[in-house]
Amino acid sequence: MKKALFPGSFDPPTLGHLDIIERASYICDELYIGIADNINKEEYFTVKEKKFMLGQITKHLSNVKIVHFSGLVVDYVKRHEIDFIIRGLRAFSDFEHEFRMGLANRRLEEIETIFLMADQNLTHISSTLIREIAGYRRRLLDFVPSEIEELIYDRFSHHSA
Ligand code: ADP
Repeated sequence: MKKALFPGSFDPPTLGHLDIIERASYICDELYIGIADNINKEEYFTVKEKKFMLGQITKHLSNVKIVHFSGLVVDYVKRHEIDFIIRGLRAFSDFEHEFRMGLANRRLEEIETIFLMADQNLTHISSTLIREIAGYRRRLLDFVPSEIEELIYDRFSHHSA
């Protein structure tokens, strides 16, 4: 029984995240999607909203569980007997940061990180990009799952421009 954790900010979740979630769910028995508290980043959605959105878009995946954690990923991993961490790699620019984090996590807890390459049609998608596009009142159907598009669009379309 292999348990994996896919940690992230999911602020908001995107089609890129969903692609990694779907593919990760096939290669492990149980997949935890971990909403991380990020002390270094401004948060646009609450944990409750992120949980709701991730729940909506993963209804078709029976082995996925959505959790929230604060503190180090490796501490959560140890406490819950997780076998490996999943991360997505979009571009070469992700690599250096991810490589360093993967090595640090292995050093801290001997935990392996499995990197899944982004779908080539989704590599450009990021939560930051989505917030910007919606800020200029452009719909987001090419970027986020349709079930949560309205919620995300509404959040950002009132603010700017
Ligand atoms: P974090 O702040 O931990 O990087 P994110 O929500 O930005 O949180 O990303 C979580 C994970 O999802 C990361 O491994 C990231 O590389 C991956 N990811 C984000 N967008 C995409 C995408 N478009 N395609 C594939 N993976 C992605």
